[in-house]
Amino acid sequence: MMPGADNNVLSSAREIVEKSLRLLREYPLCDRCLGRMFALLGRGWSNQERGDAIKRVILMSLHERIREGDKDAVELLRQLAPNIGEQARQLYSETIGEELQPLRCYICGSELEKWIQAAGEKASELLRSVDARNFLVAAKLGDDIRVREDEIKRRFSLIYSESIGSETKREVSKIIQARTGLKPNFTNPDVVVVVHIPGGSVELQIMPMLLRGTYWKTSRRISQSYWVTRRGVKRYPISVEEALFPLLGLYHAEDIVLHASGREDADARMLGSGRSFIVELKKPKKRRIGLAEAERVINEHSKGLVRARFLEEASRRDVVELKSEHQKRSKVYKALVVVEREVSDNELRALEEFFTNREIRQRTPRRVRHRRPDIVRERIVFGVKTRKIADNVFEALIRAEGGLYIKELVSGDEGDTSPSFSEILGARAICAELDVVEVSTSR
Ligand SMILES: [Zn+2]
Repeated sequence: MMPGADNNVLSSAREIVEKSLRLLREYPLCDRCLGRMFALLGRGWSNQERGDAIKRVILMSLHERIREGDKDAVELLRQLAPNIGEQARQLYSETIGEELQPLRCYICGSELEKWIQAAGEKASELLRSVDARNFLVAAKLGDDIRVREDEIKRRFSLIYSESIGSETKREVSKIIQARTGLKPNFTNPDVVVVVHIPGGSVELQIMPMLLRGTYWKTSRRISQSYWVTRRGVKRYPISVEEALFPLLGLYHAEDIVLHASGREDADARMLGSGRSFIVELKKPKKRRIGLAEAERVINEHSKGLVRARFLEEASRRDVVELKSEHQKRSKVYKALVVVEREVSDNELRALEEFFTNREIRQRTPRRVRHRRPDIVRERIVFGVKTRKIADNVFEALIRAEGGLYIKELVSGDEGDTSPSFSEILGARAICAELDVVEVSTSR
């Protein structure tokens, strides 16, 4: 070993002790609060152990000076010991001849240890009552305590320190792990344990549970969201959202939110591939429930009018993705088209030919303009396949970009959607029935 390295270590040791000595001359600090000022130095120790170790080195040095007959050291012990606390008790009484009266920690009032223990125990107890599978600890700090800590860190440039908030979070987390066996989850916790410092009181924030799945509407007149008119009358006999209501009881949740990748009209069935959705259960008190059980209560409650299949648990980010992607998806619709006059096979063939990779300009339809932004959108119709059913009735399979209103593609919405089936046929056409048969997973 180079002597230079030894010297460097010695000078670092000197710096740690010197800073601590200066700190303790001015402020009484508990072991945790002193140790926290050097929290990034040393591995696998608590701040309490760091603070304790530093205090003992200082006392050992003082004792050596006192043994050597240094009168100044006795005076220094008299000043420092009340700020150091318990570690100084015996040396103090032997040297000074009085009982030591330790002072309370400047930052935490020597209460931090107690707060952390109390919070850890209380949180462990509360977590058992809410069926949590994991947790995350958050700390809420009072202004005064934060100001006192920052003052010390600033004055002594303590670059290896951590905050009382980080220490609280880590230490409470350790207690909860030891007592409950639960692991912390930093990205998607079931429950956030909020610890208040000062005080150590605890409250739980139960995070929502998100389930990703697919739904089908096997019948018409089913809206996606629960829809009640101003007079309190239900607009449709059942909605997809209502079909999910039994989950409230199953998960002991307070509320439910349906996030879907787009929506179809209430009078359009959702068949084929179904539509992706995420159901958000707010404040669920039960979580360990099989997805098959969740599917069962939905299918049973809606008498098969709405069917759901769940794939997995989702995260908040999945919800954002789900909502942003539906516009990009292509969809296949099945439309029953009624024309005001007879249509020939040639006309239908021409229609198919025309609506191949055709761009449509569409103003927000009249029927929804009162509740949707009035804009003009451009969407592609990729292809149309027709099948004649009667002289003036045909079925059309339409593959189009997400976000195109199909009823208006057929009718033309008095010219606000162009080109349209009516326009190309030169005759008024309406969409009598509409089903969504595929929501493509490709973008
Ligand atoms: Zn303290």
